[in-house]
Amino acid sequence: GRKFFVGGNWKCNGTSEEVKKIVALLNEAEVPSEDVVEVVVSPPYVFLPFVKNLLRADFHVAAQNCWVKKGGAFTGEISAEMLVNLGIPWVILGHSERRALLNESNEFVGDKTAYALSQGLKVIACVGETLEQREAGSTISVVAAQTKAIAEKVSDWTNIVVAYEPVWAIGTGKVASPAQAQEVHFELRKWIKENVGADVAGSVRIIYGGSVNGANSKELAGQPDIDGFLVGGASLKPEFVDIIKSAT
Ligand code: 13P
Repeated sequence: GRKFFVGGNWKCNGTSEEVKKIVALLNEAEVPSEDVVEVVVSPPYVFLPFVKNLLRADFHVAAQNCWVKKGGAFTGEISAEMLVNLGIPWVILGHSERRALLNESNEFVGDKTAYALSQGLKVIACVGETLEQREAGSTISVVAAQTKAIAEKVSDWTNIVVAYEPVWAIGTGKVASPAQAQEVHFELRKWIKENVGADVAGSVRIIYGGSVNGANSKELAGQPDIDGFLVGGASLKPEFVDIIKSAT
């Protein structure tokens, strides 16, 4: 079985006071054990060591990005080596906000994923179509191309979680219906089966992101190919605990 995975992507939000409050809320939450659900929260870089040090031991942290190769003269970037050095186990790569606003290409995301894995990080690799692409009927080809760019650079998928995040559902309140999400997760798993292998297809977690909240998570979690969530806005609120609980 694929262990349920719930990620909280805090994006570029929070003051130190707010971060303290969220960590206190998470630390007090009664949730299923780590054998049942893997919980990973992703604060902005500047709060990462603080959150890592104060967060309960059964929850883990992720960076929201890292540099594509070894560190050096790359002003403003954070390297995979630095994350490893600080004991940060996870990194989110290829988020649609970075693809769209910072022009990260499929190939660049593939290179980043391969490098981060090579340094020992675990990667939440994000894929997803825009509204325009969905309306043009190209959803599956878009997510397949994004996944292919990763598959071309990576052979071991053990430390990858794929996050399907339709761009039109992110931060809009327009969550994909359980059937819409399940269809893409199914097709993505099929693509992985045909192009990477049946073992990887059977074991890789494919999580959904885009307007997940405490009220819609349970039904989405019931879909056979939805193995968890990547939560934005609601990960900053008490309902994140309800989303974690939707694992059972
Ligand atoms: P929202 O949950 O705010 O729609 O964001 C989803 C997301 O982008 C998580 O990475």
